[in-house]
Amino acid sequence: MAGTVNQLPWRKVDGAPLCWLLPPRCVVCGDPGLPGCDLCEACRAILPAPRHACPRCALPQPRAGTCTSCTAAPPPLDAAHAAFAYTFPLDRLLPRLKFHRDFAAGRVLAQAMVDRFTGLPRPQALVPVPLHPARLRQRGYDQALELARPLARALHLPLHADLLRRTRATRAQSRLDADARRRNLLDAFRVDACGSALPHHVVLVDDVMTTGATLHAAARALRAEGVTRVEAWVCARVA
Ligand SMILES: [Zn+2]
Ligand SMILES: [Zn+2]
Repeated sequence: MAGTVNQLPWRKVDGAPLCWLLPPRCVVCGDPGLPGCDLCEACRAILPAPRHACPRCALPQPRAGTCTSCTAAPPPLDAAHAAFAYTFPLDRLLPRLKFHRDFAAGRVLAQAMVDRFTGLPRPQALVPVPLHPARLRQRGYDQALELARPLARALHLPLHADLLRRTRATRAQSRLDADARRRNLLDAFRVDACGSALPHHVVLVDDVMTTGATLHAAARALRAEGVTRVEAWVCARVA
């Protein structure tokens, strides 16, 4: 079962990514996985792909096109794409990556994002939404970077993991309502190009988009420094 999967051994092989010693095993149900993939056929079939989604906020819509909220008040993101809806099994897999170091789940999700986003217009840079350094020290890894790194590698896109810095240790967003989330994030990000020219087209990468407040704050910070097009690619969208 899924609970036992995390305890299987890992080994670093000659500088290659971490590999299983055992055959692929589904990160959702624990059954044998598809060749080279820690996901079984049945669980791959139930991954909740959104059908029509608003191109600006990635919320599901009854039909294709920009939603009424984004038409009335265009968000600072030029586009937002979610690989999945934040329902089962994403609501299990993403917290396991975020809080329980389940990098097997992270690899499956990153591969699924590659499959979904491969046909989208290509940016000049992928930028993972960063954690505050204090939270990064506490957790030991950044889940957005864990998704962005394989995405950049597979799509041959430059990864600018240090372009955006979190300057304020914001309170956990999940406990706040939409207005409080926006206040919590004022000036939370700083752009640091380290003397290089800024890419003009950036895609922000994050695990989950809830209200969009974090991504919007990051997009505003990039725009304020002259980035002309900012999009978001997220693993899952909370409806
Ligand atoms: Zn399965
Ligand atoms: Zn929208």
